[in-house]
Amino acid sequence: MTDRKYLLEQVDDAAVVQLYADGFSALSLNDKTLIWHLYQAALSGRDIYYDQRYRHALVMRQLLEQILTHAANVPPATLSEIRRYTKLFWINSGPYHNLTARKFVLKCTFEEFRAAAHAAANAGARFPMFGIETVDQLLERLKPALFDATSEPMVTCKTPGPGRDILATSANNLYSGVTSADLEGFTEKFGLNSRLVKTGDTLVEEVYCIGGRYDTEISDIVMHLTNALPYAPATMRTALEALIRWYTTGEDADRAAYDIAWLADKDSVVDTINGFIEVYLDARGIKGAWEALVYYVNIEKTKGIKKLAESAAWFEERMPWDPQWRRPDVTGVTARAIDVVVEAGDSGPVTPIGINLPNDQSIREGHGSKSVSLANINEAYDKSLPTSYRREFAWSEDEVTRAETWGAIAGEVTTAIHEVLGHGSGRVADHLNGQPQLVLKEQYSALEESRADLVALYFAGEPKVAECGLLPAEHQAEIVQTEYEAYARNALVQLRRIREGSQIEEDHMRNRQAIVHWLMAHTKAIDVRKRDGKTYYVMVDAKAFHDGVGRMLAEVQRIKSEGDYAAAAKLFDTYGIHFDPALRDEVVARVDTLNLPSYTGFVQPKLLPVVDKDGNITDVEISYPQDLETQMLEYSRNY
Ligand SMILES: [Zn+2]
Repeated sequence: MTDRKYLLEQVDDAAVVQLYADGFSALSLNDKTLIWHLYQAALSGRDIYYDQRYRHALVMRQLLEQILTHAANVPPATLSEIRRYTKLFWINSGPYHNLTARKFVLKCTFEEFRAAAHAAANAGARFPMFGIETVDQLLERLKPALFDATSEPMVTCKTPGPGRDILATSANNLYSGVTSADLEGFTEKFGLNSRLVKTGDTLVEEVYCIGGRYDTEISDIVMHLTNALPYAPATMRTALEALIRWYTTGEDADRAAYDIAWLADKDSVVDTINGFIEVYLDARGIKGAWEALVYYVNIEKTKGIKKLAESAAWFEERMPWDPQWRRPDVTGVTARAIDVVVEAGDSGPVTPIGINLPNDQSIREGHGSKSVSLANINEAYDKSLPTSYRREFAWSEDEVTRAETWGAIAGEVTTAIHEVLGHGSGRVADHLNGQPQLVLKEQYSALEESRADLVALYFAGEPKVAECGLLPAEHQAEIVQTEYEAYARNALVQLRRIREGSQIEEDHMRNRQAIVHWLMAHTKAIDVRKRDGKTYYVMVDAKAFHDGVGRMLAEVQRIKSEGDYAAAAKLFDTYGIHFDPALRDEVVARVDTLNLPSYTGFVQPKLLPVVDKDGNITDVEISYPQDLETQMLEYSRNY
């Protein structure tokens, strides 16, 4: 199946990629039917997220889609610009870029757009007019949203500059007329699931629940969840019932009960996440963006992860750090590899590759968390990566071939070790009371991510990992080499993301930069080479790489265990934070010449039930539309 299509098209800096769920067809009819109902529940909430991101987003979407579907008399140049803009709009669920949070706009003139809208109206398009509004009045009303990048420029603005307010400068629809000052002395009852509106001098919480805000969408979601109940195993049924209760009342106590019930469901083959969950859209970090995922366990890939978790104590005894920092009571984190069938809202078309929930810290401490890695998403990312991307930064043809052959599995194995053994390993000095982050402060996350990455790099070549079934033993050495090469390369390639300044802020990026530069300073594992004015980070000695990783890991663990803030700060200041802006400019120029995408929107699998003459579902068929526009128009028609 290597010849099937993953990368469908590129729109500006967004790749559009088809997602495949190969295991679906082999599921039981019961599980397929369960997924079919959960799939509809997921898509039924799609409009909630559009509306949360921007108050005009749904009206804009209908306007754009109506023009695209009544376009016979629209001039081709105008039409192709409207199509480009609309595709970006779909990928980002509104007019704001997913990575930069900045608004993107139409590049044709307003007059051209107006002519296109009238041509569509004459061909039967139906626009979302407000009362007695004319087409021209509607367009005038939406003009700043569609054409002016300086009007409401950011969807979420966490650092607006001195004297400016984070809520007033954020264009999202989680608040209306509210500034941070209004919130002083105000206690929210529905922090996660309400829109906060200021009318006159009063603040009102518009609760997201049945009978409240988004009543239509939530009622549909609840109907489909209810239809799913008869097909759900007992623990999952309990979780779905708790979710229905939360959607019905909106009460936070019911949200907590749902979190706990969802956690208790550890063994079902099928699972779903559906609700107001992540808080990144809110500059305050309080309000939840709506999202849904439906997925089933990838049994093959989960087997290895489970075995790894069961062997956690074996690995702990072999950690290359001072034995006093080994955990006596080690248990691996329970993690599963899953295949996604559908994602909507905050998790689709742009998706994470791993999820660890719930976010409620008190529930995590009392009940644990579920961690999933999205196996088919990872695979699709890997398969859709343009060849030019690897070729540009790899030193030799051999390195390119290795990356293409083993890159995906190498990435999976290190991610699994990172999550299952990395974060859970090691102990800290008693005087830190289990909370090293309090003394390591802003250095903590980067240090902890380094530690987990180093554990993964250290053990990737360990025969026990092959015994667990995570990779074929006969190719292990080559897979490890591939991972080390990719890791070294990445320190160079990741600079493309920081187009301004000469400092790295993001913790995962700091960690990766720090490891590679520490290895360069302390080992002979990585060569910096030049060819035709281009820089390459070339991994030349896997044994030196591995030994260096072991030494650095011992030191990183010591810093964490002793809470040595000064050493952590020095480590990242020396190796992780600063980079040469000239080198970054070189990397950016190379990436831009190749027109490489910076993020991905996925086209989801499509489900269709097969129904007999009595209305019973006898099968659920899965297909792959391979076209963003077809899928988005279909979603808008049906959900
Ligand atoms: Zn991590």
